[in-house]
Amino acid sequence: MAYVTPFHLKLMALAHRPRNTRQRRVILDELKKVTSHPTAYEVLKLVRSRMPGISLATVYRNLELLSERGVIMRLDTGGMKRRYDGNAANHYHVRCIVCDRVADVSCEPLGTIEELMGEATDFTIVGHRLEFHGYCPACARQPAKPTA
Ligand SMILES: [Zn+2]
Ligand SMILES: [Zn+2]
Repeated sequence: MAYVTPFHLKLMALAHRPRNTRQRRVILDELKKVTSHPTAYEVLKLVRSRMPGISLATVYRNLELLSERGVIMRLDTGGMKRRYDGNAANHYHVRCIVCDRVADVSCEPLGTIEELMGEATDFTIVGHRLEFHGYCPACARQPAKPTA
C-alpha cells in the first residue's frame, strides 16, 4: 500500500459504496427516530438490531460525515460526550449538568441575535448555536449530595 494513487482510492471507495450507503441510511434513519441526542455508542446500540456486524468506528465515521454534510447536527459545545441530532435545522438545547441529558428547547431561534453580533464584531454572521444548562427534572429531585 506504499503507492495509493487517487485512482486507487476512487476504486476502493466504489467497491465499498453499496454497503456504506446502506449503513449511512440506516444510521440516519435510526437517529431521526429519536429525540434523545444520542452519542455514537448509543447510535450503535440503535442500529445493531438492523445491522448486527456494524462497528462503533463505522457508526462514528458515518455520523461525522453526515454532520459535515449538514444532514445532521453535531452537539459538542459542552458536556461530557459528543452527541448527534437528526434534526439539522437550528434549534436550541438544554443540557443537564448532572446526568448530561440533552433536550430540545421548543422556542424559535432568535434572529435578532445574529444582527446584534454582526454589529458587535467585524465578522459576517451566518449562524449561531445556543445551549443552556441546568438540572433536568429527575436530577433536580435528587437530594443534594454531601460534600466531602
Ligand atoms: Zn439530569
Ligand atoms: Zn435537538
